[in-house]
Amino acid sequence: MTLALAASAFASVHGVFHSTAFVVARNLAIFLAVVFWLSLAFWVYKDARRRIDDPWLVGVATLLGLVPPYIGPVIYLLFRPAETLDETKARRAELRALEEHVNRRRPSCPVCTTRVEADYLVCPVCATQLRNACTSCDAPLEPLWQMCPYCATPIEPSDVDMDAALTAETREIAWREPRVAEG
Ligand SMILES: [Zn+2]
Ligand SMILES: [Zn+2]
Repeated sequence: MTLALAASAFASVHGVFHSTAFVVARNLAIFLAVVFWLSLAFWVYKDARRRIDDPWLVGVATLLGLVPPYIGPVIYLLFRPAETLDETKARRAELRALEEHVNRRRPSCPVCTTRVEADYLVCPVCATQLRNACTSCDAPLEPLWQMCPYCATPIEPSDVDMDAALTAETREIAWREPRVAEG
């Protein structure tokens, strides 16, 4: 009698304990799963903001991070832009700097700033005289030259437009001077 009572008491206590442990474990598992689910969605949101400019698309990506749970972030990983916005900006700035560097070496018309080739005699856009042709060999001469470097013919001083020469010379120096990098 006493033994049976003790046994049933033990069984019920064991049952309660057992079920409580199960419930606690189950709740803990659900809690961790939810935390992991929301953390993944939050990570998708943060990553999307670094990579996507459009707030609507960031919203869509975040939604994908939430639904379907755990699979959405993997799908996002497969389709997210390869570059972050900062990387894109840095690459564009680099390209712009390179372009500027190349352009700086090419001469332009002192009047209308049209790009001209080194051997143009006049600006094709505004007809400004850029250089004189050598009287002997027709080579294009820099305004300050005293002698044609191609055929050694002395250049008449009257042929040289000193104003244009000085402007061209000043611009030449300006091209060679390294400009302060922007941005
Ligand atoms: Zn011009
Ligand atoms: Zn010449």
